[in-house]
Amino acid sequence: MARYDVVIVGAGLGGLTAGAILARAGRRVLVVERSNSVGGAASSYKSGELFVEGSLHETSDPHDPRDPKHDVLTRAGVIDAVKWIPSGTFYQARGGPLDRPFLMPDDFGAARRALTERFPEARAGIDQLLGEMQHIVAAMRQLSQSDAATETRGSLDALIQRLPEAADWPLSLSQKLDRVFGDHEAVKCALAANLSYFHDDPATLWWIYFAMAQGCYLQSGGRYVQGGSQRLSSALARAIKVAGGEVLVRRIVSSIALGDDANSITHSARDGSDPKTVQCADIIGNAAPAALAPLMPAAAAERLRQGYAQQTPSTSLFALTLGLARPPREFGIAAYSTQLLPPWMKRLTDYAQGAALMAEEPGKRMPPMSVVDYAAIDSGVPAPPFVLSILGPDLLSNWDASDMDAYREKRGRWQAAIVRYLGAIYPGLDEAVVASSFNSALSVRQYLNAPDGAVYGFAPGPPPTLRSNPFRSPRTAVSGLYLASAYAGFGGYTGVVQSAGICADMILRETT
Ligand SMILES: Cc1cc2nc3c(=O)[nH]c(=O)nc-3n(C[C@H](O)[C@H](O)[C@H](O)COP(=O)(O)OP(=O)(O)OC[C@H]3O[C@@H](n4cnc5c(N)ncnc54)[C@H](O)[C@@H]3O)c2cc1C
Repeated sequence: MARYDVVIVGAGLGGLTAGAILARAGRRVLVVERSNSVGGAASSYKSGELFVEGSLHETSDPHDPRDPKHDVLTRAGVIDAVKWIPSGTFYQARGGPLDRPFLMPDDFGAARRALTERFPEARAGIDQLLGEMQHIVAAMRQLSQSDAATETRGSLDALIQRLPEAADWPLSLSQKLDRVFGDHEAVKCALAANLSYFHDDPATLWWIYFAMAQGCYLQSGGRYVQGGSQRLSSALARAIKVAGGEVLVRRIVSSIALGDDANSITHSARDGSDPKTVQCADIIGNAAPAALAPLMPAAAAERLRQGYAQQTPSTSLFALTLGLARPPREFGIAAYSTQLLPPWMKRLTDYAQGAALMAEEPGKRMPPMSVVDYAAIDSGVPAPPFVLSILGPDLLSNWDASDMDAYREKRGRWQAAIVRYLGAIYPGLDEAVVASSFNSALSVRQYLNAPDGAVYGFAPGPPPTLRSNPFRSPRTAVSGLYLASAYAGFGGYTGVVQSAGICADMILRETT
């Protein structure tokens, strides 16, 4: 029986990043992925003539040494293997309570100036909030360098004390923004228009997490991986192989056995044929804990489930990709990233109503949407057709998988409604659509084996009390099983890469 130091279940961004660091540190690594190719959500592909980016709109610049991905991707050997293209500006926010579009720069200083110029009456609050966010990003850098803060109460307390407004630690984003801006909804919406990058409800989004995640963009600038996120995932897989590791695709991990001396996993072809069992010292789950538990012996599965019993899954996203006959800017799309807030949204907290809208037939209310025009920057995305990616909050419960024909028809009606809606904002855009692809929360569940359709792991909620630790760890309640994924910390490219680095370090330190 083949024997490895580490077997990794899943070749998403988290599994590949941890695998590359471990393989480059001399560990014998095997990565097993059920899909046709590596990357999980961090994939891009062709659907007919249409280029589809599976996830990436923007991530913060990993070339900035202050960015949490910098050290991790450097150690994984891929920081210079792809080109990180500037998004130009962070986003244009329009609609909702904003009387005209607002351009949010991806830089703390420029953002402060742009916000103050547009909302001079809120100057004091803008200075305070951006100042706090800057402090929080700096203080939280510590998290990317060690796992101590996530695991020891003393380190966490020290971290809290270093924050400017420690008393605000357990607040949600909407509580914090209410405290700073009162009922000035336009400035709140300008500051958090891209909420779907993190969550679907400002009232249940931890303010400190927002400050960290949004602050990374404002600290280092937004970036896209030239040619598509697949290039990053493929570079990570190459780094594993060059270091002597193995990456298998079209193989499903069908069982995990845990022993005193060694663990083992069995993987098979997707039809269940050709099972192979390999031994390993440690297992890294890149798949969701809820997908790993059914593969394990009952007692271990129960320990794993109990470890996450208090956590709720994150939101999902719908992602509609349109191929246009002409560049989107010809229809009035003025930035790489546009955050379209619907007209029914009068307050930032109304955002929460967006995620459940697709449960019904399309009507008057459209969800908030994040629209990216890949032709606006040197993205390397092939054109024509010119690719426009539209995503917004979605829930698995919006879609009924029991009748797939009915599901596809309803999805088609939503696609037509979104295209009509965009055509009303950007005249002529609707008539220029020549290709399309629509992924829903149900697609996320099916393609990524994410049982709840979650795209950011567990929901980034505020800690229930000042004493509770809001940070998750790659360590699980099952000895020998670690996580390297959005579930091991926070979601998104930055959160996943950061957690994968912490996971790899834990294994390097704790096992010989
Ligand atoms: C539409 C969309 C847009 C997004 N936009 C952004 C963005 O602009 N910026 C940003 O930072 N983040 C974005 N994200 C979020 C980000 O892409 C994810 O949080 C991140 O890629 C998750 O990585 P992961 O490694 O945790 O998991 P995943 O990518 O889910 O990978 C898990 C892998 O495990 C495999 N697997 C599962 N079960 C098994 C099994 N039994 N055997 C073998 N393999 C298995 C799956 O096939 C999958 O490849 C977006 C996500 C989506 C869906």
